[in-house]
Amino acid sequence: MSRSVLVTGGNRGIGLAVARALADAGDKVAVTYRSGEPPAGLFGVRCDVTDSEAVARAVEEVTIQQGPVEVLVSNAGITRDGLLLSMSEETFGSVVDTNLMGAVRVTQQVVPGMLKARWGRLIYVSSTTGTAGAPGQANYAASKAALIGLARSLAKELGPRNITANTVSPGIIATDMAEGVTGARMKQLLSETALNRTGTPQEVAEVVRFLAGDGSSYVTGANIPVTGGGGVGC
Ligand code: NDP
Repeated sequence: MSRSVLVTGGNRGIGLAVARALADAGDKVAVTYRSGEPPAGLFGVRCDVTDSEAVARAVEEVTIQQGPVEVLVSNAGITRDGLLLSMSEETFGSVVDTNLMGAVRVTQQVVPGMLKARWGRLIYVSSTTGTAGAPGQANYAASKAALIGLARSLAKELGPRNITANTVSPGIIATDMAEGVTGARMKQLLSETALNRTGTPQEVAEVVRFLAGDGSSYVTGANIPVTGGGGVGC
């Protein structure tokens, strides 16, 4: 079935892989992008998720183009690493504003349409760092852990209307974001995986595709790790 999908941060990395996987599965897929051109073959809306008005405009454009959003993949995210003791409130807040509040803003815009349709899929891209923590990433970990609480609460608020809410928690995935992780830190992260390698954006996209589809109809409030075995048993 062709569904109206919105992927935030869908112009590169994991978001682009998700958008392409869902488009290949026959869905109508829109992506947000902040600068440059949208990816070829996908409907792009310019949107910074820290700007409430831009988010509202973007969701309106998507609705006109392909109908009310039925599947939201909230993926846009940033890191601004540093030790907490020397981290400014601005640095901490900017990560929370993008990773958590960005997701909240988009959710508030798309849920009314899902309520009307009595069907919807909310999928948030969290991170294993959200539950495991990482030195220098207190802001990022806090924002990603919060997404799990957000999804679980929405699962309970919206379940009676047949709307599911889940998180996907990738480990280390080969994208621009992971390029900053090198040397000893990368070696350590790889040694913590069972598969001893980084994941690909496509491997995350496959899990998102499952959550977006009919096969996941009884899965809600779940957090699915995509870590190559990293963190297993913790
Ligand atoms: P990238 O840095 O490759 O892509 C990040 C995406 O988010 C880009 O499309 C970017 O848009 C978008 N974005 C960032 N800030 C905003 C904003 N304010 N408004 C709109 N869009 C924004 O990262 P990944 O693909 O690796 O990450 C995607 C998600 O996966 C993130 O939430 C990240 O935290 C999570 N993740 C990634 C892991 C990894 O190892 N790569 C591991 C665990 C989780 P633009 O191109 O305009 O900058």
